[in-house]
Amino acid sequence: MIAEIKTLSPYKHCETTLQNAIPCTGIGLHGGQKVQMCLKPAPVGTGIVFRRTDVKDKDNLIPASYAAVVDTRMCSCIGNHEGVTVSTIEHLMAAFAGFGLTNVFVELDGPEVPVMDGSAKDFITLIACAGIVPQDAPKKAIKILKEVSFEDDKGCSVCLYPAAEGLSIDFMIDFQQSRAIGRQEYSVKLSEQAFKDHIGYARTFGFAQEVELLRSMGLAKGGSLDNAVVVDGDVVLNTEGLRSDNEFVVHKTLDAVGDLYQLGMPIIGHFCGCKSGHYHTNMLLRKLMSDRTAYEIVDLDDYEEDLLQKNKRKSA
Ligand SMILES: [Zn+2]
Repeated sequence: MIAEIKTLSPYKHCETTLQNAIPCTGIGLHGGQKVQMCLKPAPVGTGIVFRRTDVKDKDNLIPASYAAVVDTRMCSCIGNHEGVTVSTIEHLMAAFAGFGLTNVFVELDGPEVPVMDGSAKDFITLIACAGIVPQDAPKKAIKILKEVSFEDDKGCSVCLYPAAEGLSIDFMIDFQQSRAIGRQEYSVKLSEQAFKDHIGYARTFGFAQEVELLRSMGLAKGGSLDNAVVVDGDVVLNTEGLRSDNEFVVHKTLDAVGDLYQLGMPIIGHFCGCKSGHYHTNMLLRKLMSDRTAYEIVDLDDYEEDLLQKNKRKSA
C-alpha cells in the first residue's frame, strides 16, 4: 500500500497529462537489457505514445493501441508500420489507467519497458513525482452497449458487459498444478484509490520450471526474484513471501487494466476474466471495436450529468 500519495487526479472530466517529465532506469524482463525511460507531457489528443529514441533511421513512434498489438505470448508488445516494437507495456499502461492519464509520451532507448519490481508500484511513484495537470478538452469514455465475449478452446474467456458507470472487474484464476496459487477470485471497481492501495502493488509471477524454457526462447532473461514472484510447485521461492494472499489474481487484474487501456479512453462497463491473459483481452478489444453497435463514445461530463438526473428522477 502506498498510502502517502494523496489523490493526484481529481480531474475526472477533462483530458490530463504530466506536469513534468520524469526519467527512470531499469531492466527489461525478457531481454534483460538496461533501459532508460522518460515519461513526458503530451498535448491534448495525443493519447499514450511510445517513442524509441534508439531508433533513428525509421519511424520510431508507436501509439499504444489494441490495433498495434503484435505479440501477446508473454506480455503485450506493440509495433508500428515499420516494425519498430515496444514490449511489456501493460504495467505502465495500467498505471496510466489507474490515474486516468490521457496524454503521455513514453521515451525508451530500448525495445522494452523496464520491469521495475514486477508491479506498477514504481510507475505510481514516478507519476506522483511528475504530477498530473488538467488539459482543455473534455474526457471521453467508451460505453459498452451489449455483451461481447471471447473464449479459447481451453476454456479461458473474457467478457465485457454494459454497466451504469466506471469500470468494474471480476477475475478468476485456477492453477491446479500449484497449491501456492490454486483458485483465486478478485472483484474490484477501478479507482485511483483501489489502484494505489492494491491493484498496482501486485507483482508478476512465473514458475521455476518454466524459467529455463523461457530463457532458451530468449525470454525472461531479466527475470529474477527481485522482479517476479517465482513459484516452484507448491511453494513461493521469494523469501519475503507475497504482498497479499491473492497477489496472483490481483496481478492478472493489473494486466487486464493495462491492456483494456489500449482503447485510449476509460471504459464504462464490467469486465470478466476467467483464466485469461493478454491474448484474450486483445481479441476481445478487436471484437468490440469491430462491432459499431457494441459501444458508444460519450463525453464523461455529459454522461455523468445525465446519470445523476436520471437517478434523481428515480428517487423522487
Ligand atoms: Zn503482468
